[in-house]
Amino acid sequence: MKSFAGKVSIVTGGASGIGGALVRELGRRGAVVQVADIDLPGAEQAAREVVERGGRARAIRVDVTRPDEVGDLVRRTEAEEGCLDYLFNNAGVGVLGEERDMTPALWQRIVEVNLWGVVHGIAAAYPLMVRRGCGHIVNTASLAGLVPVPMEAAYVATKFAVVGLSQALRTEGAALGVRVSAVCPGLVRTPIFASVELLRVDRRELESRIPFTIVTAEEAARTILRGVERNRGLIVFPLQARILWWLERFLPALSAAFWRRSAADFRTLRR
Ligand code: NAD
Repeated sequence: MKSFAGKVSIVTGGASGIGGALVRELGRRGAVVQVADIDLPGAEQAAREVVERGGRARAIRVDVTRPDEVGDLVRRTEAEEGCLDYLFNNAGVGVLGEERDMTPALWQRIVEVNLWGVVHGIAAAYPLMVRRGCGHIVNTASLAGLVPVPMEAAYVATKFAVVGLSQALRTEGAALGVRVSAVCPGLVRTPIFASVELLRVDRRELESRIPFTIVTAEEAARTILRGVERNRGLIVFPLQARILWWLERFLPALSAAFWRRSAADFRTLRR
């Protein structure tokens, strides 16, 4: 509990889902939270919930694909609060469907938000944290950043990149006092299910066929903060995701067979 009290935090994508739950949990634990999202009314609502419970939070409209906006957010936070302890690079978007149905515009969008969004956050916060000799950057990747889940190759590409970036920076930043973690959830029940771009697949049909455990955003936020407190490099959950990750590392042929079957099931939904 003590790790977050009075600590200054930024949560991107804080208006909704995992980010929203992180904002509420950080607020409950006494952190000062900057809720950054492209959805300002949603960010304001999340900040209001913290303030109504006696915490400190503020909403800011930020598009993570814009380095100037992310830079301003970090500079303003440091100027007004005196420091930045935690940066949660959490904003993200999804695309689900076969690569043959992808377009360059969709590729560009997902790379801009999921990868460049994280890069801009790091570019703004990391030098500042190095100067102070402390700080923790927490990047939301996905199980799809550890296991090459089929039918979402572009999403997988961005999340593998975020995991690699986080691990390299974790090693580089350790001696300079900066901690870096990557969060790799399996499925979390959030509005992303309604907003994910689906390529030639019916949303309701797909949802009725999801074979995986889905955890709540609140459970996800508590698990993430526990991992951050323990300074874990990779925060992988729930158990099913850990098993799939283990399978990928230690029994890759079995893992590939599992995912080929999952791809074949998915393909039956293609219209
Ligand atoms: P969500 O859709 O509920 O929340 C994402 C938030 O990001 C939204 O508030 C949205 O407005 C914001 N956002 C999108 N583009 C933005 C931009 N350009 N600038 C600023 N904000 C922007 O989704 P979620 O499920 O809470 O996802 C959060 C993160 O968790 C994402 O990175 C996602 O890839 C990752 N993730 C989610 C799941 C899951 O099952 N929900 C699983 C693994 C990883």
